[in-house]
Amino acid sequence: MLGAVVGLAVGRPAMSLQPIGDLFVRLLEMIIVPIIVFTLLMATRELSPKNLGKVGGQVVGLYLATTAVAIAIGLAVSNLINPGTGVTLEQTDVETEQAPALTDQLFNIVPANPISALAEGNILAIIFFTLAFGLGMTMVRAEVEPDSAVRNGIDTIFNVADAGAEVMFKIVWGIMEFGVLGVFALMAALFGEIGLEAISAYFFLAMTLTVAVGLQITLVYLLLLIRGVVGGSPVDFLRGSKEALITALSIRSSSATLPITMSDADENLRIKERVYGFSLPLGATVNMDGTAMYLGIVAIFAANIAGASLTLFEQVAILLTALLMSVGTAGVPSASLVMMTAVLTQVGLPLEVIGMIAGIDPLLDRLRTMNNIAGDLAVSSVVAKWNDAIDLTSGVWADAPVGVGEETVNVTNDD
Ligand code: ASP
Repeated sequence: MLGAVVGLAVGRPAMSLQPIGDLFVRLLEMIIVPIIVFTLLMATRELSPKNLGKVGGQVVGLYLATTAVAIAIGLAVSNLINPGTGVTLEQTDVETEQAPALTDQLFNIVPANPISALAEGNILAIIFFTLAFGLGMTMVRAEVEPDSAVRNGIDTIFNVADAGAEVMFKIVWGIMEFGVLGVFALMAALFGEIGLEAISAYFFLAMTLTVAVGLQITLVYLLLLIRGVVGGSPVDFLRGSKEALITALSIRSSSATLPITMSDADENLRIKERVYGFSLPLGATVNMDGTAMYLGIVAIFAANIAGASLTLFEQVAILLTALLMSVGTAGVPSASLVMMTAVLTQVGLPLEVIGMIAGIDPLLDRLRTMNNIAGDLAVSSVVAKWNDAIDLTSGVWADAPVGVGEETVNVTNDD
């Protein structure tokens, strides 16, 4: 908040704070690969291939379902607010990068060289190899003699992973201390750069996304999943996720937020490593509810600008394309802009729109990324609940604060 105020007051000079924010992002990026490898190895220690299949199926199924709902909400809100009416198409020289083909993306999940996947930070390929390696270890471990060198070696690797994950979380805490400054710097630089003009020019677009994100978070995550399925308090869930949500809001990257998302899942939401070690790295790359919703909203926005109206059938086609595209979107800032080409082309809408909204994207991307992270944590909580892997008696679920002048908070979860 303070960052936004300073940015608006100071204007462009506030952009000189950007390097402090960039340093924060870099620190987080530094630990993405090790934290995924260590926690995922720990997850495989506890999961048999059968259980992994079960947890994996539930995670993927819920990820897809919540994303489809998000797009439907985005389309419904857009049909009500109708962003883009009255706006005229500006000729912009957009470099419309081609969205990668889905088959290529699927193929790339299998790394030709695991070491280069690690070096390049290719998250899906890292997940694939680490899972294969971890499951391989659990299988070999079950087959060999108890005191054999192989068994001892495997136990040592798992112990190293355990220690490594602990150390990474320690580092995350250190980074989060600095994060306060990083978040301030990023917010000040953002508002200093875009100012109020860009916001007012695309007010209805911003409003549509804000309303849709608000609905998705309150109705789907907080009420349906957390209150309804997990049986926890939505306020506790938000308290437990706040570091990750604020970070997502400031750095606009699901992948770079991942270390903090994992730390919140572990320390605050008390989800077990065997669920979040798998669900969160996967979610950071494939589960993008805010992104998918935005792809749908922009399609309606573009149609309104072009004076076209989209039939129900076309909107369903948009839903499906946006679903697939969001799965393939990388968890990096403004990745949606690339994926948008596919959605707009699908229904024959002008790609110039992408250039028009690129200016306000640094702002809207924050809401999308925050929604993406909230979705990952909500689904992980549900799957953890289904697999007896969440402790609702500790972490944020247990120590609800009794605020001044508030009623006593019920901490027994016996709603
Ligand atoms: N920045 C988003 C994320 O990292 C992706 C996008 O919507 O552009 O989750």
